[in-house]
Amino acid sequence: MTTDCLMSTYKPLALSFVRGLGARLWDQAGREYLDAVAGVAVTNVGHSHPLLVAAISEQAGLLLHTSNLYSIDWQQRLAHKLTRLSGLDRAFFNNSGAEANETALKLARLHGWRKGIEQPLVVVMENAFHGRTLGTLAASDGPAVRSAYGALPGDFVKAPFGDLPAFERLCAQHGHRIAAVLVEPVQGEGGVQVAPAGYLQALRKHCTRRNWLLMLDEIQTGMGRTGQWFAFQHEGIVPDVITLAKGLGNGVPIGACLAKVGAADLFTPGSHGSTFGGNPLACRAACTVVDIIEQQGLVQNAREQGQYLLERLREVLNGHPQVVAVRGLGLMIGIELHKPIPDLVALTARNHGLLINVTRGQTIRLLPPLIVGPTDVDAIVQGIVNALNGAEASRE
Ligand SMILES: *Cc1c(COP(=O)(O)O)cnc(C)c1O
Repeated sequence: MTTDCLMSTYKPLALSFVRGLGARLWDQAGREYLDAVAGVAVTNVGHSHPLLVAAISEQAGLLLHTSNLYSIDWQQRLAHKLTRLSGLDRAFFNNSGAEANETALKLARLHGWRKGIEQPLVVVMENAFHGRTLGTLAASDGPAVRSAYGALPGDFVKAPFGDLPAFERLCAQHGHRIAAVLVEPVQGEGGVQVAPAGYLQALRKHCTRRNWLLMLDEIQTGMGRTGQWFAFQHEGIVPDVITLAKGLGNGVPIGACLAKVGAADLFTPGSHGSTFGGNPLACRAACTVVDIIEQQGLVQNAREQGQYLLERLREVLNGHPQVVAVRGLGLMIGIELHKPIPDLVALTARNHGLLINVTRGQTIRLLPPLIVGPTDVDAIVQGIVNALNGAEASRE
């Protein structure tokens, strides 16, 4: 088949998978790959997890969808689980990350208006990624994704990520108009940039003092990815709003916006909604994902295997001519290179049976499923080393 009938928003590799199990995928020729992309931090409990397959199959035979005009038991159960795990109070369910962030941005406007601000602003970060809708594009950085689309909502002021003095200067300048701060605890698309220790705590203090909403985009970092259920838990704070998607449904599309009561209660019946959001199939899938993560101890496994992966990579890549830095949190790891290596993704897949992703042109991003063990980690490390050396050799 060709891609002639698809809009060319992606340039997919000539590689297509027909089956997955755990951390492995198989292509049309039956070749096996170790998956260190996990559908971009989505298939966190692995491919074809038997409990998830059973839950989805059973629910498909019972009921897929009824709309939010009726109570949905699985939605209430999921909200209960997520609020218990996060310490936030209420949930609203969407179908994607961008939509979850739109929900958060609407809360920010309502919060600002309640405070008497006519045109409320949200502080966002340089190098941020929050999605592809017009609103979330406006909150994101990067001329490549924004420039073609003309005027975007003007609700945002931008601070350099991780830089507190710069944040404080921005607040001094715009403070009277600010309603909220939106930040990724680890910038994923932005090249796996980890917030410096104490940064989120400092933002929490600012927001509490000035009655701004602290809103964390945990779409990529949430659901155990960084070795805590949510990345903010590394810092012992509780935000006012968080957004989730990616790993929440392990591939069944679902997003969520969670909020503390004060922010959550800004919505009233009719002020926000979704046709598909929170349907029985997606919510049952996500409930099952949460159960699997708990039963298999995957949050702790992400912490341990992430630590091991980071250490091993630092060991073997120390002094490597192509590597600038190795960084990460839990199983979200970036290897920044001096220069982009064209076709590195394809070469690694073809020659080493390892699936990796490259973000911001020259940072290898590793997002293996949270089920990986030490043998998988060793295989990832070996594949990366071989790929870097192979890419170097092929250039000479
Ligand atoms: C992937 C991602 C999004 C967008 O999610 P979609 O489901 O693609 O809309 C937003 N924020 C972050 C941090 C992400 O990683």
